[in-house]
Amino acid sequence: MKVGMVAMKETDVVIIGAGLAGLTAAIELKKKKVPFVVLEARNRAGGRVYSLQKEDIQVDLGAQWISPHHKRMKKLLRKYDLHLVSTYRQGKTIYNFDGIIQQNTSPWPNMSVVERLDIWKMKKVLNDKSKSFEAKAPWEFKIAQELDKITVEQLINHHMYTSFGKSFYQLMLEEALCSKLFEVSALDLLWCIRAAGSVERLLTAEDLWIKEGVGTLVEKMARSLPGQIEYEQPVTSINSEFKETIITTSKQIWKAKKVILALPPNLLTHIKFIPILPVTRAQLNERAGLPSVMKMVFIFNKPFWRDVGLNGNVYSNEGPIKLTVDTSPPLKNKGVLTVLITGESARLLSEKTIEQRKQTIIENLVHYFGEKAEDTLNIIEKDWSAEEWTRGGYGAHFSPGVLSQFGVTLSKPVGPLHWAGTETATEWRMYMEGAVQSGERVAEEIVQALKHECKV
Ligand SMILES: Cc1cc2nc3c(=O)[nH]c(=O)nc-3n(C[C@H](O)[C@H](O)[C@H](O)COP(=O)(O)OP(=O)(O)OC[C@H]3O[C@@H](n4cnc5c(N)ncnc54)[C@H](O)[C@@H]3O)c2cc1C
Repeated sequence: MKVGMVAMKETDVVIIGAGLAGLTAAIELKKKKVPFVVLEARNRAGGRVYSLQKEDIQVDLGAQWISPHHKRMKKLLRKYDLHLVSTYRQGKTIYNFDGIIQQNTSPWPNMSVVERLDIWKMKKVLNDKSKSFEAKAPWEFKIAQELDKITVEQLINHHMYTSFGKSFYQLMLEEALCSKLFEVSALDLLWCIRAAGSVERLLTAEDLWIKEGVGTLVEKMARSLPGQIEYEQPVTSINSEFKETIITTSKQIWKAKKVILALPPNLLTHIKFIPILPVTRAQLNERAGLPSVMKMVFIFNKPFWRDVGLNGNVYSNEGPIKLTVDTSPPLKNKGVLTVLITGESARLLSEKTIEQRKQTIIENLVHYFGEKAEDTLNIIEKDWSAEEWTRGGYGAHFSPGVLSQFGVTLSKPVGPLHWAGTETATEWRMYMEGAVQSGERVAEEIVQALKHECKV
């Protein structure tokens, strides 16, 4: 059939988005022999995963680290014969708390017994509260509804006594959430903790990274789907008024029985739905903006910080840099420092020119590592908020009131429309592991729905 000048193509399932969630769903449907196509807006697969080669080094400009507890990611790495590297931790970490800099060999900054107890008690509060509801549907629990009335900052202020303890959590959590603690609902953080298993797991999710780059993983996944991914096909409208659903991109028109939307909810507001989405679902999408994040990778002749007993790790609650990690490739002579800039700092840097941003971050690196930080071989950066098909990172975090009132719609199908993406995950939400889990869950949902329709 031809609509205007474009021939309409037909399949059983259209998957929108070739990020880890969409690719996983596609691979699962392929195993079950369900016909599908993946429509991807960009000219590449991976979404929030993006790697490139510079100075003979694989550079991850999006997602990078995995935790030893990411069982699905580890399984994928085994399947595609990729290798893990442990994050370099020998030597001292630099901590900057409100301008006071300390270096410490233990995984903890220096603190008094009272401050340590305060931090330990808060950790217990976070772990206990996260276990007071189920990760599958927090909004169904009265306690979760109460926790959605306050921010993370309010929760911490309520339970902590020492100003150092509060600064510690501010430093660790602002980087993880890419947001100020007053912006995010306590329930949102606790749901992430529940979905990861504990606060300790959440705060050590940067323990491992992939030697070949995460980009190699998504490339291999995409290559296992030859001819089944259509690139540069941003979906602009979905019409599910009739028995079959019509999906329109800027160049193609597809007819399908089911649609998987494997993209962050903020981007759903750019698709025209006919009929319009149920009010609560539409309002959820409108409240799901991604926070700002920028990643910069600095390549040096050698990891010079190791010579003076530093491990390359900086945690800071002030200045543009929130986190640096040594990602120097093993067995190569180069030194690589990966820098994460989040929230307000990322927004401010976004307004500067590329040269100004690089200079600002170099000055900040010199503050921590000395003048050798100026001798870069290469600097590569990505401002994820400026990416049309992402608009921020790492994932959507909700302000108070949203999850308890709209969260129920996150993964609830609407007619033929099924939702995936790390934001819908119930294990390791906002991580690559969560994206993969959501892809597996949605594929199973589709298989069951198609089976049910065959019977009717
Ligand atoms: C800077 C940064 C660092 C991160 N670090 C880590 C980390 O170290 N470890 C970790 O586990 N996680 C990390 N994350 C989070 C991780 O990247 C995500 O959780 C995961 O990649 C999300 O995958 P997804 O498939 O759910 O979504 P996405 O990767 O966002 O995929 C969605 C896809 O949909 C496409 N799309 C969007 N709109 C349309 C449209 N209208 N039509 C067609 N296609 C469309 C997009 O182009 C994209 O390819 C990081 C994220 C960022 C940004």
